[in-house]
Amino acid sequence: MRYNILMDSHTSATPKMPVVSSGELPEPIINLTLAKKKNEPGWIVVGVLIGLVAIIGIILIIVGLVLQSRPLVEPEPIRAKEVVFEDCVGEKPAVIADPEGAPSEQEKPSETPEKGTLGNIPASSRTYAGENCTLMQGPLMLINPVFQVKTDYIAARKRELVDLTKMYQIKEGVQANGAPLLDSEAATHLNAMVKAYEAAYPQHKLETRSCFRSAGTNCGRLCYATGTTDHHTGYTCDLIDPSYGQSLNTDDYDKHLEWQWLKENSYKYGFIDRFPVAWAGGSMDEPVNINADGSTGLYETWHYRYVGVDAATEIATGKYNNGQYDSLEHYLKARGIVDSLTAGTCKQ
Ligand SMILES: [Zn+2]
Repeated sequence: MRYNILMDSHTSATPKMPVVSSGELPEPIINLTLAKKKNEPGWIVVGVLIGLVAIIGIILIIVGLVLQSRPLVEPEPIRAKEVVFEDCVGEKPAVIADPEGAPSEQEKPSETPEKGTLGNIPASSRTYAGENCTLMQGPLMLINPVFQVKTDYIAARKRELVDLTKMYQIKEGVQANGAPLLDSEAATHLNAMVKAYEAAYPQHKLETRSCFRSAGTNCGRLCYATGTTDHHTGYTCDLIDPSYGQSLNTDDYDKHLEWQWLKENSYKYGFIDRFPVAWAGGSMDEPVNINADGSTGLYETWHYRYVGVDAATEIATGKYNNGQYDSLEHYLKARGIVDSLTAGTCKQ
């Protein structure tokens, strides 16, 4: 019935009025057909738009994720390399990106500038090298009443040292005029030496006393004024085995096993008997008195000084002293490092 009505509208020049039966009107049918034809393209457009919006949203999310994964600034290692080379003299090397972010071989020397060209010379020695010509000798530096230092150097040197008690649990015996502070390299060797002594004699201990002094002592014949004592170097400790008491007395040398052991073995760890009896010279009632040949006027069986294994071996075996234990002063002059022990000058 409805089909016929539509066909008739196309085939007849003059549409016939449909036969209406049972009160049914054609108008709603025509409206329904027209509405259906109008709505179909609308839903397609809406669907396409929704699809486009979804695709654009996905694209925006992907772009956002990509941008988020990219750093806004250059990687840290590149900036670090640029800072490192700012202090260099001469042409600035090309900066090479390091994708791993690890320090390159070019960076490592700048982190420890004292290694290599300057050896193991402390920063304090370089800063105050003008005060004492031996400071640039590192562990072979000489501080005595002739080769003096000033209080600024002493303060700077103190800040470079490590605490023997905290780092190695080496006991500081009687609290004297000083602190258990030592250069890190010397401390490593001292720890090995202490352990070797205590291993050789399991019932014994080796204690330190007054390794670093910020000020000179104020006492009798062995006095030093501030700026003149070996205890300012950061390479020195007085050593004693408490099994033999607490007295630092040269007359007790034969009774102290540790001082005899140190005299025979300490050079293997880079330490020397700083004031051997053979170089004491003259009367022990006099204060320290350095003469032109390297005599010190001092005899201290407990005072040990780090100079490095090579130099300690040469001093202990008397390479420049006919096979006999040398003094540090005589050794430095014999090697041509010091020019005059009484004028405080070095050979250039
Ligand atoms: Zn001493």
